[in-house]
Amino acid sequence: MKTEFSLAQLADPDIAEADKILRACVHCGFCTATCPTYVLLGDELDSPRGRIYLIKEMLEKDQTPTPEVVKHVDRCLSCLACMTTCPSGVNYMHLVDQARVRIEQRYRRPLAERLLRRVLAFVLPDPQWFRISMRLAQLARPLAVFLPTPRPSATPGLIQRLKAMLALAPDRLPAPGALPGSVFAALGKKRGRVALLQGCAQQVLAPRINQAAISLLTRHGIEVVLVRDEQCCGALTHHLGDDEDALARARANVAAWCKEAAGEGLDAILVTTSGCGTVIKDYGYLLREDAAFAADAAKVSALAKDITEYVAGLGLAPSAQQHDIVVAYHSACSLQHGQKITGLPKELLSKNGFVVKDVPESHLCCGSAGTYNILQPELAGRLRDRKVANIASVKPDMIAAGNIGCMVQIASGTSVPVVHTIELLDWATGGSRPALSASH
Ligand code: SF4
Ligand code: SF4
Repeated sequence: MKTEFSLAQLADPDIAEADKILRACVHCGFCTATCPTYVLLGDELDSPRGRIYLIKEMLEKDQTPTPEVVKHVDRCLSCLACMTTCPSGVNYMHLVDQARVRIEQRYRRPLAERLLRRVLAFVLPDPQWFRISMRLAQLARPLAVFLPTPRPSATPGLIQRLKAMLALAPDRLPAPGALPGSVFAALGKKRGRVALLQGCAQQVLAPRINQAAISLLTRHGIEVVLVRDEQCCGALTHHLGDDEDALARARANVAAWCKEAAGEGLDAILVTTSGCGTVIKDYGYLLREDAAFAADAAKVSALAKDITEYVAGLGLAPSAQQHDIVVAYHSACSLQHGQKITGLPKELLSKNGFVVKDVPESHLCCGSAGTYNILQPELAGRLRDRKVANIASVKPDMIAAGNIGCMVQIASGTSVPVVHTIELLDWATGGSRPALSASH
């Protein structure tokens, strides 16, 4: 794609990066077929190619984002299916991230929306506040029937979003997991030492996921540390376009993990929430212009691994139990498109005795996508229903996924139990049986 940035514009490293990305796009449109919003809405401006044009125009003319641009960029799930499909290697992720930042910096959203975004950016990354907000949502949920029922719309209002938020709150919250600073010793001969990302929403909604990871890792000779000064990885605010917050969190984590690595050493930083893993693996890029952090951020990105990547190298102890359980494997977008981890989790599950079924249309997002299911409830609901119907077609006993956002989203539409891949692997190699109940 031809671009017309001025030399002055190209002096800005972000614009230079956008220019490189835009020039790689050859307008072929292959990406449209796998874009969930294009599949649902059939509008070119809700396709990757359409959004690329809109972003190009906005950046090239140095415009204040128009409501039209904001609408179509907001509808993008950042699922990155387009990056998997693109034959020209267009890095849509870095382009749309830049567009979101510009929108947040230069576009004035309606007051109610600004407030909602502020609340989400404040509450979701903080486990204590998130726990309180979940309790409030549980109390408020019966009152949701008194809220008017707006017509479903791909341009949702506040009521629709509030209802979506209340609907996602679980009926009950589990007891909190281990505290930051905890160290779990390897059982038997020590083979390695890792940090395990504690996560923010996940540690409130499903501490059992990291408990399963710790159980499996320590049983296989790996010491696990929950690093004390770690924060939310920044993915949530990053996707809301609040780069200042996201980068501050990235810096804090880089400092905390590098301190730990320089102390007792770290072989890897393991992540059980693939949405977070994709962003942590990108810290090196996000902080590339920060002289004080660039080198350490690159080191952290190199150390970051999805839990399945690390576990695959451990040579899991042979399955102690014979399972006859059909598992539908839901491939989270952040894992399959963001980190290009596709076959590995399924291989691990199969090797450990599960009957693994691929889900039709597995490239399409379930609609979770960070805060998307709150901010775009109508589109998210349609994607969830489509995903749940596809999963039902393989008649599973259980659904496995590697991302808490997907787990909550899918569980809100099915009675089939939804578990994390690591819970099944832990169970199959001698750990506890996962709680076989849906999140709702
Ligand atoms: S990230 Fe997903 S929703 Fe956004 S343009 Fe790409 S395929 Fe479409
Ligand atoms: S598939 Fe790649 S090159 Fe083709 S239009 Fe989409 S982003 Fe551009």
